[in-house]
Amino acid sequence: MRSKIAPASRLKMTGFLFVLLGSVFYAAQAFPSADEAMLNYTLNVTLDINHSKITGVARIPVSKGQELKFSTGRLRILRASLDQKELTVPKQDETLRILPPYEGILEIEYEGLFQEPPSQFQFGEPSSIIAGQGVFLTGSWYPKPEQLCLFHLTVSLPEGYETVSEAETINKVTKDGKAVFTFSFPHPLGSLDLIASNRYKVVKEDFHGVEVYVYFFPEDSDLIPTYLEHTKKYLSLYNQLLLPFPYKRFSVVENFLPTGYSMPTFTLLGQEVVRLPFIPETSLGHEILHQWFGNLVYIDYKKGNWAEGLTTFLADHLYEEEKGRGVEYRKGMLISYQSYVNEKNEFPLGEFIDRTDEASEAIGYGKALMVFRMLKRMVGEKRFYEAIKYFIEQNRFRKASWEDIEEAFEKFYQKKLDWFFRQWIDGKGLPDLHLVGVKVKPSGAKFEVSFTVIQKGRVFMLDLPVSVYSHLSKATNVFHLQGEKEQLKIVVDDVPDRITADEDYDVARMLSIDEFPPVIARLIGDENRMIVLPPRGVEIFQDVIDRFKEKGVSLSEPEQIKYIEPGTSSLLILGADNPVVAKLYGSVVVRGGFGVLMKENPWNRWKVVGIFNARSKEEVGAAFQKIFHYGKYSAVSFDHGVNVYKEIDQSTRGITEELLKKAVAVEISTLKTLPDVVAHGAGKKIIYVGETHYLFPDHVMELDIIKDLHKRGRPFAIGMEMFQSPFQKVLDDYIGGKLDEADFLKGTEYFKRWGFDYQLYRPILLYARSENIPVIALNIPQEIVDKVFRSGLDSLSEEERKSVPSQMDFSDEAYKERLKKVFLEHRDFENFKTSSFDFFYQAQILWDEAMAESVDQFLKTHPHDQMVVLAGSGHLAYGSGIPKRTARRNGYDYAIILNNAALEKGIADFVLFPGDIPGVTSPMLMVFLREEAGKVEIAGFPQESASEKAGMKVGDTLLAIDHTPIHTIDDVKIDLLARKKGEKVRVRILRKGLLGSREVNFDVVLP
Ligand SMILES: [Zn+2]
Repeated sequence: MRSKIAPASRLKMTGFLFVLLGSVFYAAQAFPSADEAMLNYTLNVTLDINHSKITGVARIPVSKGQELKFSTGRLRILRASLDQKELTVPKQDETLRILPPYEGILEIEYEGLFQEPPSQFQFGEPSSIIAGQGVFLTGSWYPKPEQLCLFHLTVSLPEGYETVSEAETINKVTKDGKAVFTFSFPHPLGSLDLIASNRYKVVKEDFHGVEVYVYFFPEDSDLIPTYLEHTKKYLSLYNQLLLPFPYKRFSVVENFLPTGYSMPTFTLLGQEVVRLPFIPETSLGHEILHQWFGNLVYIDYKKGNWAEGLTTFLADHLYEEEKGRGVEYRKGMLISYQSYVNEKNEFPLGEFIDRTDEASEAIGYGKALMVFRMLKRMVGEKRFYEAIKYFIEQNRFRKASWEDIEEAFEKFYQKKLDWFFRQWIDGKGLPDLHLVGVKVKPSGAKFEVSFTVIQKGRVFMLDLPVSVYSHLSKATNVFHLQGEKEQLKIVVDDVPDRITADEDYDVARMLSIDEFPPVIARLIGDENRMIVLPPRGVEIFQDVIDRFKEKGVSLSEPEQIKYIEPGTSSLLILGADNPVVAKLYGSVVVRGGFGVLMKENPWNRWKVVGIFNARSKEEVGAAFQKIFHYGKYSAVSFDHGVNVYKEIDQSTRGITEELLKKAVAVEISTLKTLPDVVAHGAGKKIIYVGETHYLFPDHVMELDIIKDLHKRGRPFAIGMEMFQSPFQKVLDDYIGGKLDEADFLKGTEYFKRWGFDYQLYRPILLYARSENIPVIALNIPQEIVDKVFRSGLDSLSEEERKSVPSQMDFSDEAYKERLKKVFLEHRDFENFKTSSFDFFYQAQILWDEAMAESVDQFLKTHPHDQMVVLAGSGHLAYGSGIPKRTARRNGYDYAIILNNAALEKGIADFVLFPGDIPGVTSPMLMVFLREEAGKVEIAGFPQESASEKAGMKVGDTLLAIDHTPIHTIDDVKIDLLARKKGEKVRVRILRKGLLGSREVNFDVVLP
């Protein structure tokens, strides 16, 4: 019957509460349970402000044998009598029991002291107080019976006081320095409350037969017009939507205590919050609606509190809908539900009594409003309001339950709704829907999209809207689901590109991972949390550590965190410079004196990582507690406790799957040629050129770009994926003319480490050497990447870890998805069978990050240079591999040029189509070789081998090709580089025989 805006301790602490709890208000006081005869209760009290004292007399006509129980709290009962004859009444445990021996007038005299300041409370109530700052009396400030009463209250106060209680009329008589107030409320009530102050400025207006009062303190009297206006607006809204306002009088009363209550005929708003804009705009409307739901129709708490959900639905949610933000509001509710509610704290909506924590709020307000939303969609708007009006009419001044709501709706819907209420009110949880097996096929001139909706866990009956989008149209069907698996289809007129289920959040359901952004609520709601301590300055974060310790958390040093954590806990990382941040995301920016940045855990998207950063202990002290009210945000920042930044990460709307790709088109008149491309790229610090390694035309393009750039005269270097950084000195010596080609190729172990025909790269390196353009080895040693591919980053030795960049960003989900496809395509390859996707992914990221670091290091030491980076297209497409990782390190601008890539948005700045350009491949001996102890032996032959035809055999050792002695496979490859196809060579081999080995010569015409 009363509802409360918010726990006062939170208000006291922050003055901010409403922002975050989003103006969710709740009814708190359990209603008398017994449905006994109503009492006619006359109460006269006198308040002695200076002594914090109340004295009073209660008079109640009683009948013989009618057992009465009064809750007396801390009151002192002075005397009890029946028709003036004193009764002996044992007082026990804050309860007074009376069994009248005969019919008569029961009179109870009492007194009480209410001097303590209100105690700190959370999700509770402030206690009563009589003091100079004001009077607030609630609960047992009079002998409070269990049953509903008709109250007749008279209060005597010093002159100058104004006072409010549940009343349709208040009469005031001033005499002898005293003000005597008489209240009348001609309806049954569960309890009385009293608020008084000698500082109220009172303004009254008549509004369609209702006397509207505003009681504000002088310092806030400028707000009176705003509150009057909004009060009239809400009264008129609900007069039309529901039934006329039930009382003759309504007051908005400012309270010196941080309360937000709604009692019959008045609402009490704490002084700390009345200036917040959303209090008159949203919270006041919510409280006024409680005049109908809770204060006119009472709540039968034994059967659950339906009033908060219904009030939130027709107040907070309705206002958001009117502003066009209904979808976001409902999605926010579902995000809260999924963040805070888990298997342990979940309960059926029918068991909701009161908000005691975030989880109960998510159920009693959030889930409940979604249930009313579904009910409204099912029965239709007109019948919805008819049923609600009927429900109010039938239950005026009565305790009502979900069953009464069900009955009202069945009457107007003309169908049984038992299934709906049992499912949503009696059952726990929300449906978990999945869209699988989505297929598109042509159907005549149209397209048919077929799919299956699976419900995991408990199966619900529900109406699911599903839309299929195409570039020309959108088709929406609402499917009535009732099974665990439903095969469905939608026919659309033209090529469908996207399917989305429940895009408007019409269904109370679990969100898919793409709809569920990493927000602070997920960190607060996760029961398994680990704090990663900062490498230094732990004292700055002591408040954070202490607070989360209370809530249960384990502590870890940064070194203890592996690359792949099992993903069973969410992480709270202290310090944006924490090495664990670098290990997961490369680097992040957390703004403000104190800030929190939420990210998905890249190894388990259902877990989150919160990065807490602070300039000082003072900044933490001023802001940290506030984050608990900023649960819906992914990033928040504060300066000296003032919020300066807040943002929610993007997430998908609805359960969505992409269907057929939209056709892309190129405007032919805008086609460019290579010089245009270089002209654009030349202005950038870094030009990335992507290749398919074995295609000659790609390398011709690369060299063309290099030559064009060189002619422009600015210094630049060529960065190459094909060489590994430990061999930089060899590269330098070759470019500097200190080494010949053969020694360069041997020195960089080119054939072993890269292996593609050197003719592909030879022109580029020859040109670089002749023009003295530095070539930078970008790659990390192959051995390390191989080891990570086989057994993960965590398997590297201390020594090997030195080659691993300290910054590694694993959070690019789109890149991860593309790499997953690559991994699955290669799954049948022998070496892939020994790996796992996580290891494969780590190896790829290691590779990219290492190359990005090499690019960055060169540019740091050569700040005036540009760089052309040559790498496989996979490392460059969409910027995901190297480009964005370099930019994260230095912020330089760049252009990406790919060869023969798919034309897709964002894939590159330019895609070149070089056409057929002939290349010169090296001739081959057509033998498989193996190298052992300085000997090169024939291990086998491919089909149609010229060497085999010439007479060579498996097991022969190669000694020389013409005059070139052969000791290594490199010797063979280097010798062949200089030869042409069709050339005849003499190969000298050593053949083992029964009588010892002998040398033999063979002439081979190189194919
Ligand atoms: Zn409420």
